[in-house]
Amino acid sequence: MRLDILLPNSSSGLDDNFFLTAQRESEALRERLLELYLLYATSRTCSVAVQTNSLFVNIVDLLKNTLRVEEFCLMLRDPVSGLYEMWTADDRVMARAGDCSFRPGEGISGLVVESGEAILVPDVTKEPRFLNYHGLLPDIGSFLSVPLVDDNGRVFGVLNIHKASPNSFREHDKNFFCAVANNLAVALERARIFENACREAMRDELTGLYNRRYLLECGTRELLKARRAQAPMALLLLDLDNFKEVNDLWGHARGDEVLTGLAALLTKNLRQSDVAARYGGEEFVVLLPDTMGTGAHGLAEKLRATVAGELVLKDGDNCRTVTMTVGVASSPEDGQDFDQLLAAADRRLYLGKAAGRNRVVGRQQEQPAIQPAANRRQAPRRPTALRALVDYPESVLPAAVRAVDIQQGREWKSCSLLNASSHGFSGMVDFAPEVGAQYRCRALSGAKKPRFLDFTVQVRHVELLAETRFLIGVRIGTGDAGEWQRVYALLTGKA
Ligand code: GH3
Ligand code: MG
Ligand code: MG
Repeated sequence: MRLDILLPNSSSGLDDNFFLTAQRESEALRERLLELYLLYATSRTCSVAVQTNSLFVNIVDLLKNTLRVEEFCLMLRDPVSGLYEMWTADDRVMARAGDCSFRPGEGISGLVVESGEAILVPDVTKEPRFLNYHGLLPDIGSFLSVPLVDDNGRVFGVLNIHKASPNSFREHDKNFFCAVANNLAVALERARIFENACREAMRDELTGLYNRRYLLECGTRELLKARRAQAPMALLLLDLDNFKEVNDLWGHARGDEVLTGLAALLTKNLRQSDVAARYGGEEFVVLLPDTMGTGAHGLAEKLRATVAGELVLKDGDNCRTVTMTVGVASSPEDGQDFDQLLAAADRRLYLGKAAGRNRVVGRQQEQPAIQPAANRRQAPRRPTALRALVDYPESVLPAAVRAVDIQQGREWKSCSLLNASSHGFSGMVDFAPEVGAQYRCRALSGAKKPRFLDFTVQVRHVELLAETRFLIGVRIGTGDAGEWQRVYALLTGKA
């Protein structure tokens, strides 16, 4: 390659001008290279973090340490208020203007939001539209605001850079920081999409509560934590009462409203550390870290009463109160695995349903108060005197001795009564009667002068509660209202 082709004044040799130009160009080239490197560093910083929290740390580090920007802030649009609020800033700006926000069109940043174009203010004293962050940062000399634009061309934030003296920016800085802002925008958008996807993956679509998948993960994790810390933990299993009827009578859409209404009531009445999830259909689970059984029972009772008082369907004069039944379980008493807690709460929920619904059943209410064998002076074939298993506040059964035996083949089996109404009763037995079949029963009342009453029932409902434990619902079988009235009076202590 010939040298005289490359040199401008080859005849007179290398002149001063040439050197000055070459020096300037080489500096410009170095500067360009540095910028390219910084942009590369920016995009690398932004691409390694997919979550907003880590991105936040990386962006602050990038602006402060790599790009050596002394004063800056990133303001992002709040989706609820529509205002652009401080997301991050250097310490001084954060301390003085951390609560600052602006509307589109307001101040220079507002204009950037509206136009989608960066604005450089070389001297803020000559720019009446500059608001100094509502007067909170009066000592800014020059100001650069560049937009953060999403994939659809919408401005969702601004990156603002300040310098203390006027005329400290070069026109070229605008392009450079626009390129930086593009990188930030892509990273922030990606983080937002990623986080939304994560949130959606663990949320129930209808109610916004956590879904079953998240609950199972979180429940297992929380119980492990509780076990390690030897801390208590409780679980509530909630099921709406007669919800099928709500759907049938009021329509599925109103049924959905009830579900979202319940979710709102739960959210309002729980602590932030509690986890409320839709377990399925109209069943919900609440995890209560650091909560003992008694505390959980109290909370469940409060929730039950709130639902019964506030969850009301109305249509003109037509009005229906929605209630729920709650099973309560707690660790370590009911086990230290999530499955064990869920099973205990489920069992108690069934007891609550059988006992008439709209009630809370915990460990205390489940304990069967079977009389010790030594106390039984009656012959074994006499009906076993069992106290009503469930001493619910609204149960029609008194706490006194009431029992019914059911004949299975030639044997009398004891039925632990849970509830009695004017047309039948529910209880627990250790065999599975046949649904639809009639069974002989006998009831015993009175400790001093035992009285027996024989009657027939028809089995309407059988449900397996646990191994050899069945929940049954029966109706008086003979149609003899008088006979049942006597039994009912006996069972309810009114005889
Ligand atoms: P119980 O008091 O014994 O719980 O009676 P129930 O009628 O509530 O009985 P069950 O729990 O078996 O019924 C659940 C009903 O919940 C059945 C189903 O139609 C309804 N359901 C489940 N998911 C939804 C939902 O997303 N929206 C609506 N509207 N209804 C639902
Ligand atoms: Mg259910
Ligand atoms: Mg239900």
